[in-house]
Amino acid sequence: MDSEDPNDAEQYHLEVGPGDVADSVLLPGNPERVPKVTDAWDHSEEVARHREYRTATGSYEGTPISVTSTGIGSPSAAIAVEELARVGADTLIRVGSCGAIREEAAVGDLVITRGAVRQEGTSDEYVREDYPAVADHAVVAALVAAAERLDYDYHVGLTCSTDSFYAGQGRPGFENFEARGSEGLVEELRAANVLNFEMEASAILTLANVYGLRAGAVCSVYANRVTGEFRTEGERRAAETASLATHLLAQMDERVAESAASEWHAGLGIE
Ligand code: URA
Repeated sequence: MDSEDPNDAEQYHLEVGPGDVADSVLLPGNPERVPKVTDAWDHSEEVARHREYRTATGSYEGTPISVTSTGIGSPSAAIAVEELARVGADTLIRVGSCGAIREEAAVGDLVITRGAVRQEGTSDEYVREDYPAVADHAVVAALVAAAERLDYDYHVGLTCSTDSFYAGQGRPGFENFEARGSEGLVEELRAANVLNFEMEASAILTLANVYGLRAGAVCSVYANRVTGEFRTEGERRAAETASLATHLLAQMDERVAESAASEWHAGLGIE
């Protein structure tokens, strides 16, 4: 469809329409990560590809599931959330990479986000700056259960989402430019018990809360800012963990439906 009306059935940026995506959608940044995510599924089909947004739908252990790449950063991730919500998605899990600021979160480990520091500008365009970016408790529980089941090393905690990979994450800019506020940034966040930096989680979590969707994030550690290591390791682990978490969430939802509870709670169990 040629229309640029964002309320048209086929969405302007993602080029998906109703029926193209499952209720649960994984959100990697890189479009090239989409086939790496779907590799672990029973089957999948690419349903749309436009700009940085590449969407595939299929199933994982019998559970319907989709994946949409968001591109880098919160502005394009927020567009993905907006358009996926319009076509019926209600559960969003970011699957990305990150830089850890604590020594114990080694390269290749997973970080599961409980909440995020909103050091990006996109979510400010939606809500006041003291609105929290929190992950859904059932999504966090499912991600932890999935990482346990797959025997992957993981850490659960707070993430800082930035608009800048360099200055915003306390790295020197070109020719060692030292941005205003970047000195001491890593130390300040580490002292406040923040685990990692990435660039999309807080916008995804904030929009999900605003719209009554559920969301979470699992990222593989590519950089450890304490040891200075940088390796692109663990992306398949994050994708597998999020895929299994989606399957577990479907079963957790069934338990809620069979019970008198309105929310999943630990007493209902996971599988
Ligand atoms: N992604 C980030 O945003 N930061 C890192 O250090 C690594 C991946």
